[in-house]
Amino acid sequence: MRSFIKTSFSIALLATTSLAVSACTQSNAQEADRFAAVEIKAESLGEGIAVLFGAGGNIGVSYGPDGTVLIDDQFAPLTPKIEAAIADLGAEPVKYLINTHWHGDHSGGNENFGKAGALIMAHDHVRERMLGIQKSGRGNDPASPAEALPTVTYHDGLKLHLNGDEVSVKHMKHAHTDGDSIVFWKKANVLHMGDLYFNKVTLPFIDLNSGGNARGVLAAAEKALTIVDDDTKIIPGHGPMATKSDLVSYRDMLKSVISAVEKAQGEGKSLEAVKAMKLVAQWDTNPNAFIKGDAFVEAVYKSLEMPAHAHDADH
Ligand SMILES: [Zn+2]
Ligand SMILES: [Zn+2]
Repeated sequence: MRSFIKTSFSIALLATTSLAVSACTQSNAQEADRFAAVEIKAESLGEGIAVLFGAGGNIGVSYGPDGTVLIDDQFAPLTPKIEAAIADLGAEPVKYLINTHWHGDHSGGNENFGKAGALIMAHDHVRERMLGIQKSGRGNDPASPAEALPTVTYHDGLKLHLNGDEVSVKHMKHAHTDGDSIVFWKKANVLHMGDLYFNKVTLPFIDLNSGGNARGVLAAAEKALTIVDDDTKIIPGHGPMATKSDLVSYRDMLKSVISAVEKAQGEGKSLEAVKAMKLVAQWDTNPNAFIKGDAFVEAVYKSLEMPAHAHDADH
């Protein structure tokens, strides 16, 4: 059972990186070809700050006289292209790397960047999960090498004072996983939300096997809305750049689905009965989405079945 979960989960992570490609049927050679075809595209978000789109989680880059900071690093085969895109911005090689969470589409390049000398930082649980059950999130890798592990970890968060800006990293409890962080550049007014926010490409993926919970995803969206203003540039984990009003719609969707599922559960409805209600039909509009309506409703239903203290606990 455990190996089944690991296998299907790694397939799920690959599938989430490119909605156009079915990873399930690919051989290793095809897999290599897929990364060969990936282009890393940079979009400037202001002076000394950019976002990189490729395959996997969106990457934030901050650069200047104090060094280059990377938020997430996609998949290992893409590292040379990511490094080239960073050099094209006029930035130095990566000095600091922060993982928004442990999934392989956000931390797959860690070993390469770690070996090249980057200092890797993440929430305590990211390191714990990469040490213990890494196969479920890292394809078929036999183990997380030491160089891939975060060497600076934190419980609540930390601040970096670099390149004339203050960069706040804050942990969001039990949401997409149990080790999520959001990263806010105060002066540049840019927020990276990792997989706490999927913008348009899919309904939310809540990784219950990694300590995720729908309530936490809603709480993280609420928290993010207290940080942003109308000018904030929001980097989602996947999908195009977003604004505060996009995030408000996302929060409203989460709130409405969670309360509808909660109400149905209160009336004693089974998971199958709640799925049949098609509560998310109006948002379930992408036929290629990684997470469709039923899968999202199931994750919400199971999240709400968990005792509240499991979510509210200190970690
Ligand atoms: Zn992701
Ligand atoms: Zn993820």
